[in-house]
Amino acid sequence: MSEIAENLGEIRSRIADACVRVGRYPSAVELIAVSKTFPVDAIGMAVDAGHRHFGESRLQEAEPKIEALPGSLHWHFIGNVQRNKVRRILSLFEVVHAVDSLRLARYADEIACELGLFPKVFLEVNLGGETSKGGFDFDALRSEIDDLLSLERLEIIGLMGIPPAGPDAESARPWFATLRGMRDQLADETGVPLSFLSMGMSGDFEVAIEEGATHVRVGSAIFGKRAYRVDGELG
Ligand SMILES: *Cc1c(COP(=O)(O)O)cnc(C)c1O
Repeated sequence: MSEIAENLGEIRSRIADACVRVGRYPSAVELIAVSKTFPVDAIGMAVDAGHRHFGESRLQEAEPKIEALPGSLHWHFIGNVQRNKVRRILSLFEVVHAVDSLRLARYADEIACELGLFPKVFLEVNLGGETSKGGFDFDALRSEIDDLLSLERLEIIGLMGIPPAGPDAESARPWFATLRGMRDQLADETGVPLSFLSMGMSGDFEVAIEEGATHVRVGSAIFGKRAYRVDGELG
């Protein structure tokens, strides 16, 4: 068995354990294997191990990889969405995790209409108010949520957030709880459930699951340490 297959097995059992601790079904948590910076061969090993959901954060890097791999895979765009790349991102990716402005959402909606697509999107919230990270300010999101939900083509399925860096996984817990609380408040105010929460990475996915994550984005714990940093992205 490949090391990647072993890592996947281990992450799956840690996900199951975290679910048991809080009385959730493991099937309610989607594990997204974040393959940015890793080659097609590495992704192929995860595919051989039965994995189907992958995350990439840069279009240029992702495009040739997606084309080289089976069409049956599910691709999640987890990076910053640049306006001039919206068309290609929507064509290639099933879910977009980081829509962070009404202006971008409106534009993506137009393009989705042209392409005949109904993309699933998460709205990213800037949890710690950090200028180095994208995401809606929560008050702005509250005032724009009705406009966002009225877009015809975008299927807004929930919220995504990345806690400010902390000393350990536990330090992320209050941020995950905050994101869930924001979701609950928006759901309450709009009557739209916003059922999904994209939160948790290699270092803190178990805590995220305990706090309600439905999508965890795990890279290095599956594929190993990344050899280089992606500009403007995490690690
Ligand atoms: C790189 C990245 C991840 C995965 O990070 P790991 O620590 O390797 O699990 C998750 N989410 C986003 C948005 C990323 O850019």
